[in-house]
Amino acid sequence: MTRLGENGPIVVVGAGPCGALLSIYLAEQGHEVVVYESRPDIRRVDIGGGRSINLALATRGIVPLVDVGVIEQVDAITIPMKGRMIHAEGSDQLTLQPYGVDPHEVIHSISRGDLNAILLDRAESTGRVHIEFEQQCDGVDFARSVVSLTGPDDRAHDEPFGVLFAADGAGSNIREALLAVNGGEADIDWLGHGYKELTLPPDDDGGFRLDPNALHIWPRGEFMLIALANPTGDFTVTLFAPNEGPESFAALETPEQVEVFFGREFPDFAVLVPDLVTQFFDNPTGRLATMRATGWSHGDQAVVVGDAAHAIVPFHGQGMNLAMESARALAQQLVDRPDDIAAAFQAFESDRKPSADAIADMALDNYIEMRAGVVDPDYVIRRELALELERRHPERLSPRYNMVMFSTMPYAEAQARARRQAQILTELTEGVTSISDVDFDRAADLVAALDPLPGLDPLARPDALSVS
Ligand SMILES: Cc1cc2nc3c(=O)[nH]c(=O)nc-3n(C[C@H](O)[C@H](O)[C@H](O)COP(=O)(O)OP(=O)(O)OC[C@H]3O[C@@H](n4cnc5c(N)ncnc54)[C@H](O)[C@@H]3O)c2cc1C
Repeated sequence: MTRLGENGPIVVVGAGPCGALLSIYLAEQGHEVVVYESRPDIRRVDIGGGRSINLALATRGIVPLVDVGVIEQVDAITIPMKGRMIHAEGSDQLTLQPYGVDPHEVIHSISRGDLNAILLDRAESTGRVHIEFEQQCDGVDFARSVVSLTGPDDRAHDEPFGVLFAADGAGSNIREALLAVNGGEADIDWLGHGYKELTLPPDDDGGFRLDPNALHIWPRGEFMLIALANPTGDFTVTLFAPNEGPESFAALETPEQVEVFFGREFPDFAVLVPDLVTQFFDNPTGRLATMRATGWSHGDQAVVVGDAAHAIVPFHGQGMNLAMESARALAQQLVDRPDDIAAAFQAFESDRKPSADAIADMALDNYIEMRAGVVDPDYVIRRELALELERRHPERLSPRYNMVMFSTMPYAEAQARARRQAQILTELTEGVTSISDVDFDRAADLVAALDPLPGLDPLARPDALSVS
């Protein structure tokens, strides 16, 4: 049985949200940590090609940010989103579908780079985290306990580790090396759909061209466009679409095809982006996959965490939230089992794997909900009823979306509860065209049979981030 730091340097590979956060937790536990990151320091070099890429932050990501004391800095750069703003096909009318019944049930748009920079600053401010940028980890030798790195100027070198934390993202090199020695498996399930990020610029006065306090969706059945605001007045816009087929990335090969497609499907968006075609061809098309792995650790030597352990498709806006929640859970296991790192790593996998698998499934389901469900009358009535039941019975029922985004209950529990709730919603909406026709006495009986909802993590303060 070994303690952390006993066998040599504590090394984290990857200084993304998960690796940076984990290094803070380890430093707060009193450890010295070396972080190797392949990219240049994002605080000094613009690696986004001038584009702001943002993502949705929710309760599970907010809790660790409260925990490590950066929530006030984060609050200064977030934009609350109160619901989905639906840009329906063939209509100029926009419809807001609120996320919750409580004013605090909002999600927050945040720049990926700015959040990462806050975490890097906080890590260095501990005085115990030393971050080395432009150090690409090429492999691991577990017998010699060294990582092989390539630094600037292509200089290859080996560095020792006592314990290795692999936070090197979905395509993790270290996971490959780990699975080769521990007999685990990674199952990578490529989605037949990809994505492309675009920018909707601010208006001439630097203001927003759309309501910034909503997540905009243009649902079109097989594909969709979404937009999240940045504090700089622009929106990060993402097209999600099939890779192949009549309406797909493969079918958008020429400027004319792109112009016709956006003009037909998203005319209110296309008219606001003069350089749409240029952006479309300048920006890469990304692939999407779900990665489920078994065998997250190797004895007391190494463990994967964040996207390196569990990568999901982005349709629930949860990948980073999940990764940060996992970093916190791993840090807690190390506190709970200080004398036995190997046991802490195993407990981490046993605890987190069912939840990672559950959110992987729910994220895939949410793609269908976003690109098609939100304009389906059956979905709309079920969603309205779920919110009404939450209003009437807040101690027993919460819609699935809300359990995922605004609670800290394990994802697997949220998934199981949502399945039971779905049966109730099906029974109550049978033959009903408006929720005013629902039998609410029957609803009260059905909801009374559900277990009470668990309480929130004490750090999930509803006022942690501004909601307006
Ligand atoms: C289109 C899209 C939209 C998304 N939207 C959301 C959202 O709204 N909300 C949300 O919660 N999540 C979202 N996600 C998911 C989120 O981006 C990831 O889950 C999150 O970034 C995972 O954090 P991580 O630190 O584990 O991995 P990463 O962010 O991938 O960080 C890994 C780090 O390791 C470094 N690295 C990689 N390989 C090496 C190596 N060999 N040597 C050294 N360093 C290395 C990388 O440079 C990187 O800095 C989205 C993802 C995509 C693709």
